[in-house]
Amino acid sequence: MSRIICIANQKGGVGKTTTAVNLAASLAAAERPTLIVDIDPQGNATSGVGVEKVNLKRTVYDALINEVDPRELILDTGHPFLHILPANSALAGAELELAGELAREQRLKFILAEVAEQYSYIIIDCPPSLNLLTINAMTAAHSVLIPLQCEFYAMEGFSQILHTIKLIQKMINPLLAIEGILLTMFDARSNLGKDVAEEIRGHFPDKVFQAVIPRNVRLAEAPSHGKPIIYYDITSRGAASYLQLAREIIQREEANG
Ligand code: ADP
Ligand code: MG
Repeated sequence: MSRIICIANQKGGVGKTTTAVNLAASLAAAERPTLIVDIDPQGNATSGVGVEKVNLKRTVYDALINEVDPRELILDTGHPFLHILPANSALAGAELELAGELAREQRLKFILAEVAEQYSYIIIDCPPSLNLLTINAMTAAHSVLIPLQCEFYAMEGFSQILHTIKLIQKMINPLLAIEGILLTMFDARSNLGKDVAEEIRGHFPDKVFQAVIPRNVRLAEAPSHGKPIIYYDITSRGAASYLQLAREIIQREEANG
């Protein structure tokens, strides 16, 4: 069985997509067959692994709305053990279209059940809002990984996502766990960054990953080359940090059986 992890935070620009792409690529590099599921109409995870999103005739939208078999939509990224269920701007209409449909919160769960046995990990990249697409992701997932940018306002909005997770646990997916909080864009030279990291660790001592993602220009450059960081610059600090995150997740899961 696969472990399904959704990457969520309703704030934009906190490193969700960077984490989805690079965590998935790092898990795949450890020879764990991994699927990235892009459910953000911006399609940045899709282009981040080198898929031309504008040319796609069919995407995750067609699975969600037109009941197309996801196996017909999943693409090979060209990197070993790494596949993607892509998205593009066609998905922007999905939320409204889903609103009147049967089992509107469960659609992604049923889609992923069709392909789950092929993958060790399924990583879902969520849009920057707690909308019906994100609710679909939290309904389908075993856990939520929350990237938090190490800045003064990091905690703002954090209680909102915790509240959403609690609601989903209560009403739809009682087993939904918090995979962990990932500190992103950490700047070791800034006292503020260190203070924020310390504060978050103080509040959630056993929830924060040991791996911390540094602010690293190579991570910002890689998407424009359509490559995960480990295929763009394996020597970068960004690559090392995402490989460490993948190791932590694999070790923890294998320890828990
Ligand atoms: P989100 O998906 O939460 O909106 P992104 O992952 O797209 O956030 O990141 C926002 C921007 O910051 C992107 O341009 C990305 O390349 C850049 N970025 C993300 N993480 C880092 C990092 N650790 N160091 C430097 N730039 C980063
Ligand atoms: Mg994103």
